[in-house]
Amino acid sequence: MYEVAVIGAGPAGASAALFTAKAGKHTLLIDNDKGMTRRGWYENYYGIEQVGGPELVETGHKQAQKFGAELVREQAVSIEQSGEGFKIDTESGASYEAKHVILATGALTDLAAKSGVETTDGTEPRIKTVVAVDAAGRTNIAGIWAAGTVAGVSVHAVITAGDGAKTAVNVISELNGERYVDHDLLQK
Ligand SMILES: Cc1cc2nc3c(=O)[nH]c(=O)nc-3n(C[C@H](O)[C@H](O)[C@H](O)COP(=O)(O)OP(=O)(O)OC[C@H]3O[C@@H](n4cnc5c(N)ncnc54)[C@H](O)[C@@H]3O)c2cc1C
Repeated sequence: MYEVAVIGAGPAGASAALFTAKAGKHTLLIDNDKGMTRRGWYENYYGIEQVGGPELVETGHKQAQKFGAELVREQAVSIEQSGEGFKIDTESGASYEAKHVILATGALTDLAAKSGVETTDGTEPRIKTVVAVDAAGRTNIAGIWAAGTVAGVSVHAVITAGDGAKTAVNVISELNGERYVDHDLLQK
């Protein structure tokens, strides 16, 4: 069983997976590569002067994989409670089990709604429905979290990436039973 399964590998999901994998949590990242991020050109991402969407997405995947996150190219079709966690089924017929699930599905809430996760009206342009979350990223189902566009934050890459990181830190803290920080010292 994975400790964390992240569904969606745009900035929100890949950033979440980067944090959970770097924290040593057995992490699965499921993505069907139909997100919005690849279509953009970014000049407002703090710390990066400019970057194209494909490069931003692919670098994020590599960063998460570097720390052991397993990326599978699949469409998640259902999430059901199973034992101490959840079973995620995919379109190809594969199943994965995880203790915690982070939904980072961008503009799409169909998987959340189908899985009993509460949704609400969106506030951002063109985002009609989002997952209802608390300030930590928790949904109405304990163990299912949401981050990024699908969690209703402002539709900007740096904000969705930050929201994925925030939610991951909260998941890691819950798994560890104490607040978690990830600070590395300057390498000389
Ligand atoms: C044309 C365009 C230009 C933009 N320009 C800018 C800009 O200049 N600056 C800026 O800050 N922002 C810009 N944005 C917005 C920015 O791209 C988004 O705010 C941000 O990248 C969204 O990240 P996300 O991770 O929430 O969603 P996404 O990047 O959409 O990621 C969601 C991921 O979930 C996957 N997914 C969904 N459902 C499933 C499922 N059931 N199973 C498996 N995978 C699933 C999708 O394939 C996708 O990879 C632009 C957006 C567009 C469309």
